[in-house]
Amino acid sequence: MPSDARMLIAVRVVVVTTLLMASLIIQYTVTELLPINYIYLTAVVTYALTLVYIAFGQLVPSRRANLLIQVGGDLLVETLLVYFTGGLDSPFSFLYLVSIITASMLLYRRGGLLAASGAVILYGALADLMYYEILPLPEQSLVSAVPWTSSRLYFNMATNFAGFYAAALLTSYISEKLQKTFEELDVNRQNLAELRAINQNVVDSIPSGLITLSSYGTASFINPAGCAILQSAPLAILGKHVTELGFFTLEGWNDVRVSLAAGAIIRDEIEFPARDATRNIGFAVTPLQTLDGNPSGYTVIFQDLTEMKRLEAQLRLKDRMAAVGELSAGIAHEIRNPLAAIAGSVQVLKGSASLTQQEQRLMSIVLKESERLNKTIAEFLRFVRPQERHPVEFDIAASLAEALDLLMNSSELSTEHAIRREIYPVSFQLMGDADQIRQVFWNLARNAVQAMPHGGTLTVSTHVHDDTYHILFSDNGRGMSDADLQRLFQPFRTNFPSGTGLGMAISYRIVQEHGGRIEVVSRPGQGTTITVSLPVVSHAGVMVRRPSGAFITA
Ligand code: ADP
Ligand code: MG
Repeated sequence: MPSDARMLIAVRVVVVTTLLMASLIIQYTVTELLPINYIYLTAVVTYALTLVYIAFGQLVPSRRANLLIQVGGDLLVETLLVYFTGGLDSPFSFLYLVSIITASMLLYRRGGLLAASGAVILYGALADLMYYEILPLPEQSLVSAVPWTSSRLYFNMATNFAGFYAAALLTSYISEKLQKTFEELDVNRQNLAELRAINQNVVDSIPSGLITLSSYGTASFINPAGCAILQSAPLAILGKHVTELGFFTLEGWNDVRVSLAAGAIIRDEIEFPARDATRNIGFAVTPLQTLDGNPSGYTVIFQDLTEMKRLEAQLRLKDRMAAVGELSAGIAHEIRNPLAAIAGSVQVLKGSASLTQQEQRLMSIVLKESERLNKTIAEFLRFVRPQERHPVEFDIAASLAEALDLLMNSSELSTEHAIRREIYPVSFQLMGDADQIRQVFWNLARNAVQAMPHGGTLTVSTHVHDDTYHILFSDNGRGMSDADLQRLFQPFRTNFPSGTGLGMAISYRIVQEHGGRIEVVSRPGQGTTITVSLPVVSHAGVMVRRPSGAFITA
């Protein structure tokens, strides 16, 4: 049985029982004057009907049917009561209103009007039957049997009927209004919850960092992406002032607040000292407002630009190298031809017998220097116009060992130098041009030794990680300044006594063309670690060659 139908039964039983008790008490303690047998009758009928309602409720689950049958039963009982207490003169006709209001509240307008109509029919029929004396006036009636005039009958009926319908309409109107308000409230509450969830979702899933600041500039919120970018726990950020977080200096912040108040949007970049390394953070600050437009703080939206900056620098370098290469290849070529003519002519002149020893010596210098110039140009042309690559499967660990053996036996190495090898695995197959890769190893290892003119240890180690073969050249030589690092891969930049400044440029190019990369970490006076990373043939052994010539695994 629906809960309100059950409730109605309970209320009715309580009311009727209370009435019954009160009557009993009055009858047996105060007076026996009152003729109240009709009250007992009403109570008995009501209890009997209650059993009917309960049985009906077990059989029929419909709420509407349950409520209607109870209201109908009530109307019947009320009619009975009104009859026993004098019909038109009964003081109990107001009870109809109780049923009508109950029906209007629980079943709204239709139920209310139905109950009102039921009351009209029952009350009208009763009044008519009594007026025409078809039903006799009960003996225990409360009222004196004053005969009714027809006008009193009609007036009484008219006012009662109007009252019934008015009660039905008014109550159901208010009840429906209330119901609608509840429903709207529910929908609003649900919308609000959804909106909040969406909001939370958006804030949680945007890849940008988001910090909100109070009007004073202290952080009041940070999203997960923000924590990840700054590599900090929320508690390390929340409550801190924006100047403590490193976004601004104190004066800077004051200027920013003035500019923001004037409607500007602040964009800037900072270097944030994150846990692993300094990160480049790009950020924008905007004012935050409440719904009614009052300033309530600021938002800082930020991104990690570190990787982007690195790529950008790489691209810029590539670009510059391409430009330098094009231009100087032309010039180099133009030098080479006359140089060959000069060297050839001097060679011929040197053969003539009439030369003094001094002249012989000078001509040897010319020959030696033109030879050196030619070698530099040849190396340079090799850099700008790399030879064709012959990718084959080769043992990269063996190539590395060869390059290092070569260096060990060269005059570059003194007894002060040591080379430590930590090469694992001892043999590893890779696709690429073995000669060119060996050239890279030679360049890097030789640089490391040259960076340690007073001796030191070069450690060469390898490992495979994530389908990439890494080779590390680590020296404890003189290291490089930031400015040196910036120019490391540019051709013709050299700090070594007999250098050409082409080794790194060539190595860079070769590694690029093999789809790999070179990373450099260096501290002036302490040493340098250069890491070459090359993609590995996939374990399935499938290798795809990209049009650019770089290798990628498939
Ligand atoms: P080169 O060896 O002919 O000078 P490179 O291109 O091989 O040309 O190197 C360019 C410059 O980079 C070097 O002159 C040196 O200043 C710097 N450099 C390269 N490797 C190292 C290293 N391991 N330690 C310190 N400086 C280095
Ligand atoms: Mg070099």
